[in-house]
Amino acid sequence: MNIEKASVCPLDCPDTCSLSVTVAGDQVVGVRGSKVNPITHGAVCAKVANYYPEFVHGPNRLRHPLKRVGARGAGEFEQISWDVALDTIHRRVSDIIDRYGPQALLPLNYAGPHGMLAGDSMSLRFFHRIGASLLSRSPLCGGIRAAAYSGTFGATPGTPIQQVSAAKLIIVWGNNATSCNLHLMRQINAAKRNGARLVVIDPRRVKVAEQAHLHLPVRPGTDVVLAWSIAVELERLGGLDQTFIEKHVLGFNAYMDAAHAFPPERAAEICDVPLDDIRTLARWYRDATPAVIAWGNGLERNQNGGSGLRAIAALPALAGKFGVNGGGLVGGAGHAFPKTPDRLTRTDLVPAQTRTINIIDVGKLLLDENLDPPLKALFIYNHNPVIVHPDQNRLKQGLARDDLFIVGIEVAMTDSMAYADVILPACTHFEHADIYAAYGQQFLQRAEPVIPPVGESLPNTEIFRRLASRFGFTDAAFRESDVELMDEALNLEDPRMQGIRASKLPIDRAMKMEYAGEEPVLFQNVSPRTPSGKVELESPTLGARYGAALPGYRPVVSPYPLTLITPASDKRITSTFGGLSSNDATPVLDMNPVDAAVRGLDDGEVVKVWNELGQVFLPLRITVTVRPGVVSSDKGAWLRTSPNRQTVSALAPAHKADLADGACFNDSRVEVAAQ
Ligand code: SF4
Repeated sequence: MNIEKASVCPLDCPDTCSLSVTVAGDQVVGVRGSKVNPITHGAVCAKVANYYPEFVHGPNRLRHPLKRVGARGAGEFEQISWDVALDTIHRRVSDIIDRYGPQALLPLNYAGPHGMLAGDSMSLRFFHRIGASLLSRSPLCGGIRAAAYSGTFGATPGTPIQQVSAAKLIIVWGNNATSCNLHLMRQINAAKRNGARLVVIDPRRVKVAEQAHLHLPVRPGTDVVLAWSIAVELERLGGLDQTFIEKHVLGFNAYMDAAHAFPPERAAEICDVPLDDIRTLARWYRDATPAVIAWGNGLERNQNGGSGLRAIAALPALAGKFGVNGGGLVGGAGHAFPKTPDRLTRTDLVPAQTRTINIIDVGKLLLDENLDPPLKALFIYNHNPVIVHPDQNRLKQGLARDDLFIVGIEVAMTDSMAYADVILPACTHFEHADIYAAYGQQFLQRAEPVIPPVGESLPNTEIFRRLASRFGFTDAAFRESDVELMDEALNLEDPRMQGIRASKLPIDRAMKMEYAGEEPVLFQNVSPRTPSGKVELESPTLGARYGAALPGYRPVVSPYPLTLITPASDKRITSTFGGLSSNDATPVLDMNPVDAAVRGLDDGEVVKVWNELGQVFLPLRITVTVRPGVVSSDKGAWLRTSPNRQTVSALAPAHKADLADGACFNDSRVEVAAQ
């Protein structure tokens, strides 16, 4: 008999949909949307609807602890017991600590599941207590945007997604909303039905661009120039709100001095968009109220990414678009929740002087003979670094080191798990309770397990409790239950929690984060939380931290003529669902007909895409949906899709962006030729 059970999607996606899961016995047989969360309102993406049951129960699922018996990366393992697995880890890690100290250990984790317990809770307590090196993981994705947002506005929530439906002008900037921010589309469509204009700024003619009144196919990495030019044009049109600027903006003159070097005429050349379109956009923006900007992650992934985001974030302040429902900038949803990460992860346990390693440097540091102490043990969990890190070939070389001890904690046998010495099987979120504070909307949700753990898998929290126990950590911090961890994760005293403990939040309700009973509206009921209390177009904080008090622009210099962008796929959430037998087709390379003709390439042929870092073979799709000079191929495909076991991450440079030392995937420069 089938039963419907409530759950929440935990994947790395801003939407965090509420789910209705169809269960037959101990099996998940179907997943669809539920209306528990009013934002996601019964709809889910096709990825989750199509692939979740195979993800939970398919042949790739890890059901038992394993030890590696073949070469690293070859994927040959044999089953062992939990006791043997924990003993092996304890013995090998203790030897490493005795010889090199605890900082020779590194947790290499990311955000596979977004539940607050499965993410970083007991796991980091363990690593903090052991004294392992700290990992700065946000540079891989989201860190640049977070730094740009908080540098401009501080830790305050921006416009909630549901207010987009009230806007008269919506600018979707670098956000392929149809594939990776699905529920923004419902708000956009509602606004359009009420007569709103839609502008899309994206190098590709993505689906949302096909519905737009204006599409600017900006050259990747030049968004800062485009935003500056809009500011200059607003000034020419008398569209600057001087009263607001004088009262609420820091650094107006310095920002405009930088912007004046890039008037629309020059921006049209650099960004390769029509001059008239820049002027039209500025005029529409001046005239529309409410006007809202909804940006995505795509535009942060280049060396000017932070500058682009900051220059865009300045526009609503310059044009006086804050202070009304439906205006401003959709962002900062994470700041809406009263989270207490220090308490949840017990940062007080971190020994003084512990080093921090940038996640995108891991490949380089694994091969660094002068690193002191060297990295000798990795715990890879919630993460598939072989597929998602830049400079894939160097990372694979580092992971293949014989003297490295790798513990993998995962749901499925991924390309990264294939490098592990010992693998511990983790539950999917359908098999444990968790709480979810979305990063794209402002509703808190809780879920109970809908099926028992598959095989011998365990929730991440229990895995790290057992590890802690095996290492002799008897502190109370390692005995807390999942219910106690939930209550540690959010501040019950904060009015936004309405006096409800996180662990007691009903699963048939999503709790909206409110300010004195209202949704946040910046400059109405919430304010910037910058040091100055103003919108900081010139940021002393970012200046001190990154040498970037103001946005800047640096062109990429490369002998390779084409820019390769690697956007999110409509088949995977980053790399999740990539290893499924029903979802392992090789992604195509999209190329404009002009670039294909110059190279004598035909639609459908397999082409070689290369640069100094690697080479990838992909079937070619010739299409006008990608602009000339740019080629595009979806990220997240697994190595099995590639004849030479290199994917697009092999072509991504490891240099850093202007903020947060973030990754610059879209700075890949390549050449393409017939095989
Ligand atoms: S991946 Fe995103 S859109 Fe799809 S179900 Fe999960 S939260 Fe919703």
